Amino acid sequence: MHSTMMQFPLTLTHIFERAGQLFGASEIVSRLPDKSLHRYRYRDFHERARALGGALQAAGLQTGDRVATLMWNHYAHLEAYFGIPCAGGVLHTLNLRLHADDIGYIANHAGDRFLIVDDALLPLYEKFRHLVKFERVFVVPLTGQPVPAGYESYEDFIRGNAVMQTPALDERAAAGMCYTSGTTGRPKGVVYSHRALVLHSMACAMGDTLGLKQSDSLCPVVPMFHVNAWGLPFTGVMVGCKLVLPGPHLDAVSLLDLYQAEAVTFTAGVPTIWMGILQALEKAPAQWKLTPGMRMVVGGAAAPESMIRAFDRFNLNVLHAWGMTETTPLGTTAHIKHALKNLPVEDQYAYRRKQGVPAPFVEVRAMTDEGNAPRDGVTMGELQVRGPWVAAGYYNLDGEDDKWTADGWFRTGDVATIDAEGYVRITDRTKDLIKSGGEWISSLEVENALIGHPAVQEAAVIGIAHPKWDERPLAVIVCKSGKSVTSAELHAYLTPQFAKFWLPDDYSFVMEIPRTSTGKMLKSKLREQFRDWQWS
Ligand code: AMP
Repeated sequence: MHSTMMQFPLTLTHIFERAGQLFGASEIVSRLPDKSLHRYRYRDFHERARALGGALQAAGLQTGDRVATLMWNHYAHLEAYFGIPCAGGVLHTLNLRLHADDIGYIANHAGDRFLIVDDALLPLYEKFRHLVKFERVFVVPLTGQPVPAGYESYEDFIRGNAVMQTPALDERAAAGMCYTSGTTGRPKGVVYSHRALVLHSMACAMGDTLGLKQSDSLCPVVPMFHVNAWGLPFTGVMVGCKLVLPGPHLDAVSLLDLYQAEAVTFTAGVPTIWMGILQALEKAPAQWKLTPGMRMVVGGAAAPESMIRAFDRFNLNVLHAWGMTETTPLGTTAHIKHALKNLPVEDQYAYRRKQGVPAPFVEVRAMTDEGNAPRDGVTMGELQVRGPWVAAGYYNLDGEDDKWTADGWFRTGDVATIDAEGYVRITDRTKDLIKSGGEWISSLEVENALIGHPAVQEAAVIGIAHPKWDERPLAVIVCKSGKSVTSAELHAYLTPQFAKFWLPDDYSFVMEIPRTSTGKMLKSKLREQFRDWQWS
């Protein structure tokens, strides 16, 4: 028997046109390079994004053609988020924090035809310009300066009055793409379909995932060049909420000012951003009046429990989430299940600090050499996922098939435990696992405990060769400015929290820990730095 339902394609076009129709008055606020605020409404965004789509089509854009962006989070980037895919193109966000040579490689590998770039980022473009062959480059004037000679203005381009033709798109057609910011090997491209982005938006809007509503004031701090700012621009426009886009100003004070001025209710970013914000709040607790209960999604790296607790004291609600470029990215969110709400608040932290339970349609398993790990919250295995917004391969790349199992699960490269309630806890990257005398040690857990010490700003725990145990953990510590602590004090601090063999054998104090373009600790570099470490 067949269903009598329509074949109705799930495309961004629907989200975009509906938002234009229903939410014309919703505001979009963008921070410009000079720190002033640009404001307009959905009706302006809708009109301009359609104008962009029409102009691209008039310039020869065919369905499936890639259009690159090199931009911070602001209104013009949002126009590209919808104008490009709804015109049939593929939005390819370039990560401006990568090395210029890598950006050039990525643009070439993707076969990008056009580029839209912030005027403030032209110096970066100039660095890889010799490597790439965009047909046309459109410059978004944000700084108030005239567009330099030799470049086309984005504003002139979209003012050309070309009417966008809305192509009938297959929901499986490509809508966007993003390259992983891998720490080893060449960057790998992930292509998002309309269907994947639509389903992802619906899942993100759900109350038990991110719970976005039309009444929210949404500020994605996570850059729009990294996994579509976790899909938030798509979800935000779908629900029709106010958008607050921070431009290039991501320091704690600028963000706190923006949260206050625009009554932000929902924001999202990586832990390093939140550590900075926490410090600013602790230094001047009365300086900002934030929306009570403001939700803050923390992902991209583990949210330490001490951070979740500290924000609770400011009535700011951290929601821990896990995902990857390959998973669009929503995988898990750490809401407290109803039944667990009966637990004393203290005990609830044990769940909130985990990465959480999988979103609907995302399936997870932890695999050991013996097969599926028991869901006991202790046994570690490689986290594998599958679902309608999980990549099934990389764009035009051979030799990466081992990232998928024979039965179609994506091997995340993360090591995790899953407990009886289904909460996933990431314990490491496979590459960063420490094996001491045949036993695994979770570097992430020890790091998170270290960050709970009042003098510690950052901590990385790495495995270093050891004559007796193969490998032993070394803790690399960055102290908070003006604070200090000794190895013995840290050791005493950790001792009650862990089995003895998990405790680092040594502590090394440094000024900074190397990080990737998206804020993750570059442990491969640290291991190299400490390769010749002599155990004391
Ligand atoms: P990316 O594709 O650059 O977003 O990186 C994805 C990787 O970031 C994951 O495979 C994890 O290793 C890490 N990651 C993301 N979210 C979390 C989290 N909440 N806790 C720990 N690691 C995370």
